[in-house]
Amino acid sequence: MEKREPRLMIVSAPSGCGKGTIMERAFKENEVFYSVSCTTRGPRPGEVPGKSYHYITTEEFEKMIAEDSFLEYAKYNQTYYGTPRKPVEENLAAGKDVILEIETQGAFKVKELRPEVSSLFILPPSIKELRRRLHKRATEDEETIEKRVAQAAGEIAQADKYDYVIMNDDLDPAVEDFKAVIDGIRGEREPAVRFSPKNEEIKNMIREVLEN
Ligand code: 5GP
Repeated sequence: MEKREPRLMIVSAPSGCGKGTIMERAFKENEVFYSVSCTTRGPRPGEVPGKSYHYITTEEFEKMIAEDSFLEYAKYNQTYYGTPRKPVEENLAAGKDVILEIETQGAFKVKELRPEVSSLFILPPSIKELRRRLHKRATEDEETIEKRVAQAAGEIAQADKYDYVIMNDDLDPAVEDFKAVIDGIRGEREPAVRFSPKNEEIKNMIREVLEN
């Protein structure tokens, strides 16, 4: 097969949208380089240091900012999150596709820096369902959950700026939709056009998620 340029991809979804589960199911091990972010929050139950995140202090994070070690970073819920630049650049240079799982502010910064990036947003079926899922996860208190819901609404309102938008209503079809988009971006099948934000259906979907 003809060698193609490695692709840089962004996946964004408010927490509680099942992004982690979808990605775990969609990729075979080592198929793409999954960028491990730095964060100043502590690990949640089940998270693995060095795999889920690099957990660092605010001082360490700010030192990395000063040294220009991040491709992008953002403050989200009083917590810093950032993409270490070097592993991303090294993997792209080695011909590997790279995936960044980051929130919207970071996504738009990367889009500015590297317009060739492809971006995908995962919507929850509704705000009500998102709240229910966050409660079910039960790793955070009521106040934090409500903050996350408000933040999610703000992010969902930006979803139509993404190249592709899918909805995680049911896990199995969402994994299939996710694969269709990613494989399309990677040139392994026809580009997935039906999730284009230019589609009225997507705009309506976003409106409905926000209204319900
Ligand atoms: P959580 O605390 O739920 O793991 O993540 C909160 C949000 O931060 C999620 O939307 C997640 O995608 C985002 N995030 C994780 N890593 C990064 C990063 O390196 N940069 C940016 N901008 N956002 C990130």
